[in-house]
Amino acid sequence: QAFPGDDSGDTRPRQTPGMLYSKVLPTPVKKVTLLAWSEELAQELGIEKPVTQEEIDILGGNAVAPTMQPYAACYAGHQFGNWAGQLGDGRAMTLGEWTTPSGQSWELQLKGAGPTAYSRRADGRAVLRSSVREYLMSEAMHYLGVPTTRALSLVSTGDQVMRDMFYNGNPEFEPGAIVMRVAPSFLRFGSFEMPAARQELDNLRQLVEWTITHYYPHIQGSSLEEKMLPWFKEIMDRTAFMITEWLRVGFVHGVMNTDNMSILGLTIDYGPYSFLDDYDPDFTPNTTDLPGRRYAFGKQANIAYWNLGCLASALATLLPDSKELVALLETYSEVYYQKYFAMMGKKLGLDQVREKDPAFITQWEETLAELQPDMTIFYQLLIDMPLELGTEEEAIAYFADSYYTSPGKRESALFYAMLKAYTERLKSNTISREASQDLMRKANPRFILRNYLLHQAIEGLTKGDDQLFTQLQTAMKDPYSKAHDQFFTKRPDWASQKAGCSMLSCSS
Ligand code: AMP
Ligand code: MG
Ligand code: MG
Repeated sequence: QAFPGDDSGDTRPRQTPGMLYSKVLPTPVKKVTLLAWSEELAQELGIEKPVTQEEIDILGGNAVAPTMQPYAACYAGHQFGNWAGQLGDGRAMTLGEWTTPSGQSWELQLKGAGPTAYSRRADGRAVLRSSVREYLMSEAMHYLGVPTTRALSLVSTGDQVMRDMFYNGNPEFEPGAIVMRVAPSFLRFGSFEMPAARQELDNLRQLVEWTITHYYPHIQGSSLEEKMLPWFKEIMDRTAFMITEWLRVGFVHGVMNTDNMSILGLTIDYGPYSFLDDYDPDFTPNTTDLPGRRYAFGKQANIAYWNLGCLASALATLLPDSKELVALLETYSEVYYQKYFAMMGKKLGLDQVREKDPAFITQWEETLAELQPDMTIFYQLLIDMPLELGTEEEAIAYFADSYYTSPGKRESALFYAMLKAYTERLKSNTISREASQDLMRKANPRFILRNYLLHQAIEGLTKGDDQLFTQLQTAMKDPYSKAHDQFFTKRPDWASQKAGCSMLSCSS
């Protein structure tokens, strides 16, 4: 590794100017126990399931293979819109890069393996609750077809970790856990913001060159300046695509700080995320995000643009003139909406996006937000909706299973008008109804990892009962089928945000 790094292994929290990483070793835990293993991912990577305690110990940081050179990355970020300075891997550490039999390279990372130079005042640990959430959701997103980092294993540590519980603020102890996550790279927007802010332009230049060479090798040019624009364009494309994919499945990330934005356009750093139950664009699952709701479901496309702006500012420090980069950034909305309407077209079973469709889709979203049906159930019902709608009453009754609140007179009329416009549009499709329904089945998941299911699975695991945890692992691999319809129900009342249940805070 040619990058400037601090090789001292010192884990005292500190600023590391001049360094892009700091070497670190995992801090051993009491007893590493394997709770989950992603067999299909392991096969893709060419890694055999660990069986001996010695092998399992690697997944919990109690052993480090001789070829591993663990380090914590130094990065910065804008948190909730404010410059936060140096952050870095405070509880993650990269063990090394693994090359698969087919020649692909993956970064292997432990999350929760102990303090690093970037742990600040925190402990470098992760609790079972947040680790189960990251393990399950990153894999679930993969099977949904959303760009994401992956999770290879989940282990418990046998240690108790102290946390401020989000209900009452009293410190409580929770079981510790560690996830091994994998991605081609965990580089973030913040990785580039750090050297830019420090005016370490040599470091920044090296990092950009390396990122393009390794992850964007098709981008060629005789100088870095020449490669910068097409590279930024591709980051923008990937980021916009990722957001439309989140909107397609109803995912709210919850902490879209620039340190949580992957340079590869992957969903990264699963914290207080949630799927939408009721279709509320203002929904944020993150307690730290109230009352502003900066990271609410419906704001994610705008926030991505804001974050791309931070990245562009960092990259501009390498350019003699930032005019072209700024002009490129200003095309974001066009790039995004093109992808967004294409995605919505498939969700709705349209043969193509025609001139009048964007206005229709915008109206559609507004009406849904008035009605706030269960997003997943609503779209499943929509697939099989009869094109002869019948009366307003009949049409409203058809979607009854998706309502949290029965539509009043006004919502009912709006909804009926929307469905009428929709059926008219469907009738003008040049593809068959079956082909249209097929598009919809592929775009609309039937099984999602609802927050309350995760909550119940974690409660079970904590008591030593892994039944639901195991069922969810099976269901999440097959989210578009009807095979797991025992979970095809609305969120129960006790689990609503109003009942104080589904809220989560940032770090756990
Ligand atoms: P997040 O909001 O989870 O993306 O975390 C923001 C920053 O806080 C990152 O630099 C994390 O590495 C750090 N951090 C979060 N939790 C911990 C922890 N338990 N110990 C050390 N650092 C942490
Ligand atoms: Mg993070
Ligand atoms: Mg985190």
